[in-house]
Amino acid sequence: SKMGLFDYTESSQRVIFGEGSLSKLPDELAKLNCTKPLILTTPTKTSYVDDISKILNGQIAGSFTQVTMHTPKEVTEEALKQLRSVDADCVVSIGGGSAVGLGKALFVLTGLPHICIPTTYAGSEMTPIVGQTENRVKVTHIDRKAIPAVVIYDVNLTLTLPTNISATSGLNAMAHAVEALYAQDANPITSMFAIKGIQTLAGSLPQIMQNPRDLEARSDALLGTWFCGKCLAGASVALHHKLCHVLGGTFNLPHAETHAIILPHALAYIAPSIPSVMQELSDIIPDSNGDAVSGLNKLLSKLQITYSLKDLGLKEEDIEVAVDNLLKKPFWNPRSVERDPIRELLKRAWEGKPAQ
Ligand code: NAD
Repeated sequence: SKMGLFDYTESSQRVIFGEGSLSKLPDELAKLNCTKPLILTTPTKTSYVDDISKILNGQIAGSFTQVTMHTPKEVTEEALKQLRSVDADCVVSIGGGSAVGLGKALFVLTGLPHICIPTTYAGSEMTPIVGQTENRVKVTHIDRKAIPAVVIYDVNLTLTLPTNISATSGLNAMAHAVEALYAQDANPITSMFAIKGIQTLAGSLPQIMQNPRDLEARSDALLGTWFCGKCLAGASVALHHKLCHVLGGTFNLPHAETHAIILPHALAYIAPSIPSVMQELSDIIPDSNGDAVSGLNKLLSKLQITYSLKDLGLKEEDIEVAVDNLLKKPFWNPRSVERDPIRELLKRAWEGKPAQ
């Protein structure tokens, strides 16, 4: 096909991938001339701090274990205080997108190197997107320098990721790739990552549901996450991410679950405007039979995403508020975003009906 004019910004990031790659952390710190890392993690995974401390022979500056979803400003300020009081010279975030997000926020405030050890499939470690929540409003901005300096993808760490979070965060990753295929600034580089990322996750996630300790499927899923994260870094988002942002931001719905529910619905809405992308997707999403939306619906049932926006706590009257908020900030989308069909889309997702 004929290539148009496009641009693509490559990041200078080191990535260490594979089983047991966490053991490379001391080398990576040495390469950065860092000796006093602050370890960031969520309250339920404080064992990670012990694991890292052991690998580093106790040579850590300290830890902050109160990571919270959506980087609330107060939490970032607490972490910054801790960072200063232990005189850390770098930050090591370990966990899901929430831990990575705090690491990025601290980078923005301090400029200290950030080593990232992702243990879910959210993909944030690959992106320049920095989020902050203040007075319940989440805002994101792009800071190319906030792409973490080093990413360590250790498959072993993902073996304990519960199947439900594996499924939802995997679909969150897949959504980055799907939207890159029809982005306004779509380009051959992100499209290549997208196709490979979607294919890899669509194949591995159902295997993980069957056996969460399947090392090969886990390895594929983590590699797929890397590819999908590159898509979010390299192309803009459209309806799917905008809708999830409104639902998460206004009603505090859980991030990954919301992405998982919305993905087929958003794609179904856009489908009439992107016939060739739909064809490409139906070729790589198993059981599509020529219809990628139907393939995604089947994937969701295999991944036991059987719940609805209602189950996540959205009230029926919230639907209209969500539509209002979505329309308030116009954005580019392959198909124009109109009140009535968007309300219908949300109604279906609220009721838990399959996308169509
Ligand atoms: P999360 O980071 O909140 O993690 C979900 C839960 O999984 C947590 O309780 C965590 O402790 C647990 N967990 C993580 N790894 C585990 C493991 N290996 N074993 C057992 N439990 C584990 O959720 P998430 O879905 O990874 O990330 C969501 C956040 O990331 C949101 O705030 C979202 O906005 C952000 N995000 C940002 C970007 C970006 O580019 N900036 C991209 C995607 C997501």
